[in-house]
Amino acid sequence: MPPRRLTGARTDQNAMRYLESKQHSAQLLRLALPLMVRQNAAYHPVSYTLWYEHVAGLNPSLSAALAARLEESDALSEEDAYRLYARHISERDAAVLETLQRRLQALLESTAQEVATACEDSGRFRRSLQQGRSDLTNEVSASAVQEVIGRLLSEALRMEAATQTLTEQLDARTRDVLSLTKQLNEAHTEALTDPLCALSNRRGFMRAAQELCDSEQGLEGAALVLIDADHFKWVNDTFGHLLGDKVLRAIAEVLRANIKGRDIAARIGGEEFALLLPQTPLQGAHSVAEQIRLAVQRIRIHGDRAHDTVGSVTISLGLALGRAGESIDELMARADVALYAAKRDGRNRVGVS
Ligand code: GH3
Ligand code: MG
Ligand code: MG
Repeated sequence: MPPRRLTGARTDQNAMRYLESKQHSAQLLRLALPLMVRQNAAYHPVSYTLWYEHVAGLNPSLSAALAARLEESDALSEEDAYRLYARHISERDAAVLETLQRRLQALLESTAQEVATACEDSGRFRRSLQQGRSDLTNEVSASAVQEVIGRLLSEALRMEAATQTLTEQLDARTRDVLSLTKQLNEAHTEALTDPLCALSNRRGFMRAAQELCDSEQGLEGAALVLIDADHFKWVNDTFGHLLGDKVLRAIAEVLRANIKGRDIAARIGGEEFALLLPQTPLQGAHSVAEQIRLAVQRIRIHGDRAHDTVGSVTISLGLALGRAGESIDELMARADVALYAAKRDGRNRVGVS
């Protein structure tokens, strides 16, 4: 997992990737492993990324958080690992995005300034032309004509040089803007997408939900479904984290297959997903939720060995319909209550609030 991402940790070179050589990364592995074995979290990419970035000195805020956590001298749990990852690795992608946005803004501002200067130049040129024309109307002597021509010629040369400089500046700026826009798009995707399932992540989801909330219709008539895999810790402990990840991808696939149009599906936490279905009545949303529940129940994931088959993974779902003037947090809280009820009533069911 590590070599895939942008490393905002090195703020001077925001949009770069992990650059450690094979030898250096082998050293880092030797440093990270003894730290990892002391924790309760398993040896999966999420926890390895934490220790890798820590021993490589790539992520000061993460190192500070780890140091503070280790002082308490109890080992890091699975949940701690995911929490630290969300806070110090995923959040960083958003910081990269903001830096790139600020750079693009500064670039566009300086370009606008250069164009404004060029406009002042051309205004001055236009005024000299007008002045020349009126001079020629009043004065007819040869020397006066010569003087006006000389003045206009030098203004024209100055204007030509200024135009040339502006053209070069604009060419360079266009290249910079294109490259920054490309980086921005990549950072945008990184910051708003969950790399495991290729769905929106929590940030992407909240952003899209907020957009709907801010639109004219707001959240009224929209259905929110929160989904949580049942006993997923057991799935991981029994079949291993890699198969656990495969199950999460398969659940994401089921969600993708059951949404349409402006619906949004996201992985908003470790084994937690969300669906936002604009303008969907209760009955329609309930039947989508039921279809998803049944499709997930049918998932079978096979590992490398014959007996490694994860059967009957189930999910619990909490459904709530948006009300007029409601915020996304309020709607999420109600769907969460419905999800909790589904868990409490035996799991593998849809709760409605
Ligand atoms: P419940 O039915 O009450 O939801 O039980 P649960 O075991 O699913 O819930 P709990 O919150 O105790 O544990 C969630 C587990 O999900 C912890 C962690 O091992 C696992 N998990 C979280 N994120 C990931 C991930 O990205 N990949 C894998 N494989 N497992 C994950
Ligand atoms: Mg959960
Ligand atoms: Mg769960």
